[in-house]
Amino acid sequence: MSRCWFAVGVLLACCASTRAGEDPKAWVDKHVGEVVEVYHWFHQHPELSFEEKETGERLASELKAVGAEVTTEFGGHGVVAILSNGPGPRIMLRTDLDALPVTEKTGLVYASKVTAKTEDGQTSGVMHACGHDIHISNQIGVARYLAANKDRWSGTVMFIGQPAEEKGGGAQAMLAAGLFTKFPKPSAALALHVDSQMATGKVGYRVGQTHANVDSVDIIVRGRGGHGAYPSLTIDPIVEAARLVMDLQTIVSRELKAIDPAVITVGAIHGGTKHNIIGDTCHLQLTVRSYTPEVRKHLLEAIRRKALATAASSGAPEPSIEFSDGTPAVFNDAKLIERLLPTFRRVVGESNVVEVDPTMGGEDFSEYGLAGVPIFMFRLGSVDAQRLAGFKRLNQTAPTLHSPDYYPDAEAALSTGIAVMSSAVLELLPASGESSGAK
Ligand SMILES: [Zn+2]
Ligand SMILES: [Zn+2]
Repeated sequence: MSRCWFAVGVLLACCASTRAGEDPKAWVDKHVGEVVEVYHWFHQHPELSFEEKETGERLASELKAVGAEVTTEFGGHGVVAILSNGPGPRIMLRTDLDALPVTEKTGLVYASKVTAKTEDGQTSGVMHACGHDIHISNQIGVARYLAANKDRWSGTVMFIGQPAEEKGGGAQAMLAAGLFTKFPKPSAALALHVDSQMATGKVGYRVGQTHANVDSVDIIVRGRGGHGAYPSLTIDPIVEAARLVMDLQTIVSRELKAIDPAVITVGAIHGGTKHNIIGDTCHLQLTVRSYTPEVRKHLLEAIRRKALATAASSGAPEPSIEFSDGTPAVFNDAKLIERLLPTFRRVVGESNVVEVDPTMGGEDFSEYGLAGVPIFMFRLGSVDAQRLAGFKRLNQTAPTLHSPDYYPDAEAALSTGIAVMSSAVLELLPASGESSGAK
């Protein structure tokens, strides 16, 4: 993004609140009910990562209905919708599309009853437990607002529906399909994510790093199987694995600087079939989180070193070690945030715009930043303040994202989300008729 573009933007910023047409908040007051109906549909039709066919189709038809030029099945079931309105910069708004293999327990009348087969062949309930249905509906609300108020802005809005955020491959798939080569590269990209611990009406931001590097590691520890009564004739992969699990814990605690955040969690361990059989292998599945590229490299190399050393110390064959799901850390662009914060404060009030802590969670929205686009993902409060206070009184934590009990207070969350995101677009794009020289 050129400096000149920003400078002109700052000049135009003062005009955003006094433009002709309807203010996003006024529009939301009248139309949020219609968007909540759309939300209920998405909530009742969740689909797993890379299977978001119906979700993509419904989003595409909603965006077509407002006059956007829509491409479907882009990088999997991804959607790209271009809403053009004269000269000016191009802003990308991203929603994710996928849901999770979680069986909903909210008891809501519109709760999901969908089931699907997961990767391991099990049947599971499917639920929008990460609130991506709010993100999709929010995007539709913003598209409806912008399409109905084209006299307020000039430029291009590129809406994308990204598959498979939860697996970390969706952004890469859309980029590999040519998101920034078949379509012109946007000047900035915005996204929001619901926050299960933040009250509706609030938005959260953080400059710089907000989400961690995420890597998955599969280690197959190898031994030599045999009878459980004669361990001397075997190499026991379960004993090897047990030693390795403990050894892995020393990487973060003993090898990294104490001020470098990092996590190694062994989330699954599978080995053996029966009491009296020593198996051949034991499978460990790890999630590995870090912030800097240096720490990430250290962790992955140390995991390999520890796994090889465990095998060597037992006289066992070398283990197989596979790294996957590499999602880089999200880095929010400081200039973009600086430019948008006054708008956020104007829309929701000074005290409702809060700086949030970084998290060890991951988000592949980072990929668009690494592809050269300034990005900003902010958090959207999604649970009514009274409800949050109720949990606090009971000394309980409100259900977190990915919990079968999590549900957003959709109308209030969408009212804020649509107003804030629409206002952000108006801030980044010149008012209609003022676009000359805005590039
Ligand atoms: Zn999630
Ligand atoms: Zn999510």
